[in-house]
Amino acid sequence: MAMETKSCQQLHIFFLPFMARGHSIPLTDIAKLFSSHGARCTIVTTPLNAPLFSKATQRGEIELVLIKFPSAEAGLPQDCESADLITTQDMLGKFVKATFLIEPHFEKILDEHRPHCLVADAFFTWATDVAAKFRIPRLYFHGTGFFALCASLSVMMYQPHSNLSSDSESFVIPNLPDEIKMTRSQLPVFPDESEFMKMLKASIEIEERSYGVIVNSFYELEPAYANHYRKVFGRKAWHIGPVSFCNKAIEDKAERGSIKSSTAEKHECLKWLDSKKPRSVVYVSFGSMVRFADSQLLEIATGLEASGQDFIWVVKKEKKEVEEWLPEGFEKRMDGKGLIIRDWAPQVLILEHEAIGAFVTHCGWNSILEAVSAGVPMITWPVFGEQFYNEKLVTEIHRIGVPVGSEKWAFSFVDVNAETEGRVRREAIEEAVTRIMVGDEAVETRSRVKELGENARRAVEEGGSSFLDLSALVGELNDLAFGGLVE
Ligand code: UDP
Repeated sequence: MAMETKSCQQLHIFFLPFMARGHSIPLTDIAKLFSSHGARCTIVTTPLNAPLFSKATQRGEIELVLIKFPSAEAGLPQDCESADLITTQDMLGKFVKATFLIEPHFEKILDEHRPHCLVADAFFTWATDVAAKFRIPRLYFHGTGFFALCASLSVMMYQPHSNLSSDSESFVIPNLPDEIKMTRSQLPVFPDESEFMKMLKASIEIEERSYGVIVNSFYELEPAYANHYRKVFGRKAWHIGPVSFCNKAIEDKAERGSIKSSTAEKHECLKWLDSKKPRSVVYVSFGSMVRFADSQLLEIATGLEASGQDFIWVVKKEKKEVEEWLPEGFEKRMDGKGLIIRDWAPQVLILEHEAIGAFVTHCGWNSILEAVSAGVPMITWPVFGEQFYNEKLVTEIHRIGVPVGSEKWAFSFVDVNAETEGRVRREAIEEAVTRIMVGDEAVETRSRVKELGENARRAVEEGGSSFLDLSALVGELNDLAFGGLVE
């Protein structure tokens, strides 16, 4: 009987996260979820990324296998093992090259360990063929939601922006359940021959040949798009999120994604929040990669001060004697009103704190899901990736956030908005902060996101939509591994 077989054989899954924290964090959570459903889970990562997984390995939830990252061979600095450290377009190309160069080494590792299944990030297009060599299923992980998956597939397939007269002219994304308008300036128009574009195209074609797609989302958040992705685009997909809910202990939430652990500093900001009234603080953070130019940071500082609201602002900058990106006397004037966190903030804990009233976000998918899960309304400020699509889900489909007016896709993660064009002005920031924090519209927005947050929590509880989809996937993988169904 199948049940008897399962009790003596354990499903072993290998995970290959893309080396960027926005991808590694949710895939670690996913590995932990599979582990809680009885699977043995192994993450393959590079030495410098290993600390990201130490909590889960110490507790025996996951195992780790190290692979050398070919930084030097790809022309990168020796210690550049994470996309968070990319500072130029040229480095991006080299980083992509390095992710291809690890293929033979990864193949050796698979040969040694012979797991039953491979879950690999979408950036590792080669992983489907490697998995096929070992006759195991390869599952895709894109790190984004159904809405953005559908929107980007439609744009790639139909190219609705190709005959526009200007970057600011709007077009409707074809063949989606809702009428969604975009402009060309909000899209990544990479040259066709670029490494990045080649990789994106290959990814779509290879995805179709893969076993299926794991999506960090929940059905109730984007039902029309979860259906569309499966029925219209024909993808086999499982929604199993929000996966951040698998972190239950405060320490797990505090350490999530952190490489240098300075727990004291993390708790400092929570103590600061304890002293604030409910829903009175704006949390401002742009994920793990975006680095704004000083001129843009100055606009943010001035806009926040003008709004009169308390804030926590995460700025990825070392502390200096003179901070040129801050207005004169800013830190003194904001003492007690605003807190600047350098490096890494315990985002999930901050968002869950009752003092938080709104989140200024770059619309990274993890950040959006974490805000929804905590019932926090957003000010949307997309920068790159699929963030402009994510913004539409927040501001137009669910109306759980207001746009700050960011209109230009950034080709570099550093020095973003250094040029005047595309820079978001202080007045726009002040206006959006006031709109999301004060008045009737703010109350209605909050109530909508609270309701979605409750749905999110229910989705991952036993019997919820995400719980059931994960159970179904684990069952199917067990059948493939032990039921003799793999071709
Ligand atoms: N994050 C964090 N502290 C920080 C910055 C980011 O904990 O100071 C986490 C955040 O909670 C989220 C992830 O890093 O889980 C960022 O992913 P997202 O998709 O939002 O953006 P990306 O970094 O990929 O641009």
